[in-house]
Amino acid sequence: ATMPPLLSAIATAGRHGVLVKSALAMERLGEIDTAALDKTGTLTEGAPEVAAVRPATGSGLDEDALLALAAAAEHPSEHPLARAIVAAARARDLCLAPARDFAAKPGHGVTATVDGRVVTVGRPDSGLDMDTDMDTDADADTHTDTGKDTGTGKDTGTGTGADVEGGTVVRVERDGALVGTLVLADRPRADAAETAAGLTALTGTSPVLLTGDNPRAAAQVATATGITDVRASLLPEDKVTAVRELQRAGRKVLFVGDGVNDAPALAAAHSGVAMGRAGSDLALETADAVVVRDELAAIPAVVRLSRAARRLVV
Ligand code: ADP
Ligand code: MG
Repeated sequence: ATMPPLLSAIATAGRHGVLVKSALAMERLGEIDTAALDKTGTLTEGAPEVAAVRPATGSGLDEDALLALAAAAEHPSEHPLARAIVAAARARDLCLAPARDFAAKPGHGVTATVDGRVVTVGRPDSGLDMDTDMDTDADADTHTDTGKDTGTGKDTGTGTGADVEGGTVVRVERDGALVGTLVLADRPRADAAETAAGLTALTGTSPVLLTGDNPRAAAQVATATGITDVRASLLPEDKVTAVRELQRAGRKVLFVGDGVNDAPALAAAHSGVAMGRAGSDLALETADAVVVRDELAAIPAVVRLSRAARRLVV
């Protein structure tokens, strides 16, 4: 028997390194008319490196002590930022105290007890107000045009702010008090711009970047990939809201993500695709398709496959 077109497309997608979970999932991939992409680990390689260690004035910590403290708390976490922080501490031969009562809050950060004190490492905007350089809740889900990211408020001189390099800023607290910040840098994937262009050509509209990271880190990746529609400082539920709003406006959204924090948006989207290599189990389970080989550019290719198969079916 000849294979039904959608099944045959699934087999071809497999050869492109994309695991499409069902004929329905294959069909829906071809129906999308808008793409929304996560940043960290999706448009970027997801292999960040610690670029700066900034103890807060009056914290009594030097760089090594701050990094060791953050790494101790992050040690149990699988988040790419956590792995980078632990790797940086190892590279400096720092000794990590054991962490107890570890808890991770997706899209926010981690908390653990280190040397009897509660340490949190996470988003600068989810705790007390410390970094006037960062976006506050007021513009949390504002819609930034990359062309207009004017970099308001340079380094305020707190010695802890400055995401001026466009890095990811992470805040470290001990017993509720700010003890410093870390800046991490990640690179866009080599095929991120090509993928964004491919999705633009297929949908007739620019992809939307949805990220929990700060606006400047988001803008930097957007510029590098030619994406103009950027929404930064989003919580996991804000990503779902963004997807739902597009769908309420009649769009059929393809959402691409990798993290635990992306799972709700993957589920809400018309078609959810997870990055497989470093993606979290929850993202892979929730998605309709998984990019098994680490090639983002396989996604527009599979959308094209689906459209060709649907033309044969209909
Ligand atoms: P994205 O949406 O870009 O993939 P996440 O939602 O995973 O990013 O994280 C959003 C923000 O939350 C990060 O930029 C960081 O500030 C903070 N964060 C999340 N997890 C951690 C962690 N394990 N350690 C430190 N910060 C974290
Ligand atoms: Mg991510």
